[in-house]
Amino acid sequence: MNIHEYQAKALFEKYGIAIPKGAPAKSAAEFDAAIAQIPDGVCVVKSQIHAGGRGKGTFTDGFQGGVKVCKGGKAEAKEIAAKMLGNTLVTKQTGPAGRKVQTIYFTEANQIKKEYYLAILLDRASSRPVIVASTEGGMEIEKVAEETPEKIFKIFIDPGYGLADFQARELVFKLGLNPAEQKNAIKLLRALYTMFWETDASMIEINPLITQPDGAVLALDAKVSLDDNALYRHPDLVALRDLNEEDPKEIEASKANLSYIALDGNIACLVNGAGLAMSTMDIIKHYGGNPANFLDVGGGASKEQVMAAFKIILTDPNVKGILVNIFGGIMDCDVIAHGVVAAAKEIGLGLPLVVRLEGNNAAAGKKTLADSGLKLVSGDSMADAAQKIVKLVA
Ligand code: ADP
Ligand code: MG
Repeated sequence: MNIHEYQAKALFEKYGIAIPKGAPAKSAAEFDAAIAQIPDGVCVVKSQIHAGGRGKGTFTDGFQGGVKVCKGGKAEAKEIAAKMLGNTLVTKQTGPAGRKVQTIYFTEANQIKKEYYLAILLDRASSRPVIVASTEGGMEIEKVAEETPEKIFKIFIDPGYGLADFQARELVFKLGLNPAEQKNAIKLLRALYTMFWETDASMIEINPLITQPDGAVLALDAKVSLDDNALYRHPDLVALRDLNEEDPKEIEASKANLSYIALDGNIACLVNGAGLAMSTMDIIKHYGGNPANFLDVGGGASKEQVMAAFKIILTDPNVKGILVNIFGGIMDCDVIAHGVVAAAKEIGLGLPLVVRLEGNNAAAGKKTLADSGLKLVSGDSMADAAQKIVKLVA
């Protein structure tokens, strides 16, 4: 789960990570009250969407920049905010459709001595948290990694021990900070690691982290992703979820405990098991089709879950055909069959449907489908089923 910058910054504040003074507003009526909370003078207006690259983004009406530093102070900030709110911002990370801005964050502008990059994430190769830092802040880190990898420093953390003092010191030396900055940066690193650990985050990224002429170290931006699997431990963090930022189909799927990700093809897949779901998408591609989604109903799905899955698939207007690919290990194929039949009867099935059932109770499942009167094609193998659905959709 991702959260907005202003929410991430509230967490930063709680953990003692220095941030610019700021306040959010969700409507134009809230602008004055929010602006009143920041100091007079130059201020910054920031579109709140779950995507980076806002500063260099463009709104669909042509207005440039989802983050604006306003030299004209609060009056200008209010004008700019009115142009951003409700407008759709396209950045390198949003895709061409962009994201509608529904919250504006007003902050003070800070004097910047130098910009840095700082992140903590989970390194899958070493199974450890890793701190990634660079002297090249404010730029795309992918570009720095490609062009000047020597300017990126990594520290791998033993999760049993936590961030060691020598590691924090080593990092601030490598970043070339002066003694006053080092002291503040080490304090910030410790707080950041504590937050990463306690919130079960999968990533915290600060780009840019800045130093100021007096030695202060401040997080100007904040991107936080939380591990969905740990959210049950954090009701306070679950409350930060913004459903406006999520695909409605994915919201429905998460309510039914299904792993669903919408894609841009036209062949919907209903599969049990993430590995089989991946290979089903691969085989559809292999035979020249395009998957409309990743959908794993899990190892022990109920009829209700299968129905929910089927409904989600059928509400996607891009879907032109459906491939059900089930390998019953724990999963009872007949349960899937009953779910498919019930959902198709309830919603009405006007699309080609290919079903491949294999394994546990497959014969009963096939009989349920055959007796239902539903118009469907059965596939004998994965390859056969994939070829059939690709052909039907074409
Ligand atoms: P994004 O990464 O989505 O473009 P940022 O929050 O990093 O958004 O803001 C973009 C740029 O705006 C920053 O790199 C920085 O140069 C400038 N900026 C943001 N906040 C401030 C601030 N409080 N004071 C001065 N400049 C800022
Ligand atoms: Mg940024």
